Amino acid sequence: MDLTSLRSHNDRTVLRLVRSGALSRASIATDAGLTPQAVSKIVARLMSAGLLEETGAVRDGGRGKPRMSLRLCPDGAHAYGAYVDRDELRVVRLDLTGEVVSASVVPLAPMFTPSDVLDALAPLVEPGDRVLGLGIGIAGPLDFRDGVVSPNGLPGWSSVPLKELAEERLGLPVVVDKDTNAAVLAEAWRTPLRDAALVLVGTGLGVGLLLGGEVHRGARSGAGELGHTTIQLDGPLCVCGRRGCVEAVHAAASGVEAARVLGAAVTNLVQLLDLDQIVLSGRKVLESPELYLRAMPEVDVSITSYGADLVPVGAGLLVLADLF
Ligand SMILES: [Zn+2]
Repeated sequence: MDLTSLRSHNDRTVLRLVRSGALSRASIATDAGLTPQAVSKIVARLMSAGLLEETGAVRDGGRGKPRMSLRLCPDGAHAYGAYVDRDELRVVRLDLTGEVVSASVVPLAPMFTPSDVLDALAPLVEPGDRVLGLGIGIAGPLDFRDGVVSPNGLPGWSSVPLKELAEERLGLPVVVDKDTNAAVLAEAWRTPLRDAALVLVGTGLGVGLLLGGEVHRGARSGAGELGHTTIQLDGPLCVCGRRGCVEAVHAAASGVEAARVLGAAVTNLVQLLDLDQIVLSGRKVLESPELYLRAMPEVDVSITSYGADLVPVGAGLLVLADLF
C-alpha cells in the first residue's frame, strides 16, 4: 500500500484530531472546519487504507441517530526509531499510535564504525508495506536535511552520509536528527509543550529545544549544544577541543556538584529563551533524579516518563509524525 498518497493536509488534520480524541465524523468536521461530506470522504479513504477504524456507536447527548466513533488503527502503519549512542544501539518499532511494539538494545564496541552500526541495525529493522521508515537519533553536529553526521565523541566519524548509507543498506526511507531533537519530539507527543527544553545527560550533554511549539534546529541544525557552551574559563578540556564547556565541567564533577553545574547551565538557558518547561532525561539524570531536580531553576521541571526509550521513540516519531 502506498501511504505516501495519504499525506494531504486534510488527511493529516483528520488523523491528528482522531489521535487527540475527536471521536465522531461530526465532531471532526466541526473541529477541522470541513463539511461533513468532506470528512466522510476522507474518513472512508483513511479507513480503506487501514489507518482508522470504527469502535462502535456513541450517542452524543442521547438524542438522534447514534454516531460511529473513530480511532487510530494501531497496526495501520509502523515506524522504526534508533538511537546510536556512544556505547550502544537502541531500536524500537512503533505502531501508529506511537506505542512501542518491540524494543532491542545491542552494545557497540569502542571505536565502532558506521558499518558496525549498519550491521547491528540490519537484523533489527524489517521493511514492509506498513513500515513508513526509520528515524535515527545521534549526537551532533549533523545536517538534518541531508543526514550527514560528524558526531562529537565518535572518533573517525567525520561527514558520514548516514541517511544515504542506511537507506541503501536497509531498503527503507531514513531520517537522521540529533538525539536531543528526537527526544523533545517524543516528550511533545505525550505532553503539550510550547517553549520547552529537553535536557539529555547521558554519554554527552545537550538539549532539544521546542520554541513556539516547533522543534528549533537553527541555521545549520546545530541548535541545542548547551553542553558546549562555556561555564568555566580555562576549565577542563572538552571532547570538542575547547575548555570549560558545560559537558566537561559536569563530567569532572559528581553528585550534588554535578547537578549544580547542570542547574547553572539550565538557568542560563531559561534566562536566554524564557522557557517555561524543562524535562530532564538521560542515564546520568535517571541515576539520581532527585539530585538534579533540586538544582533546577523555578520553572515547570519534570523527569522524562520514557526512561531509556526516549531517544529511539522520538526518532521513530520523526517518521511517524509525517502522517499527523
Ligand atoms: Zn565542548
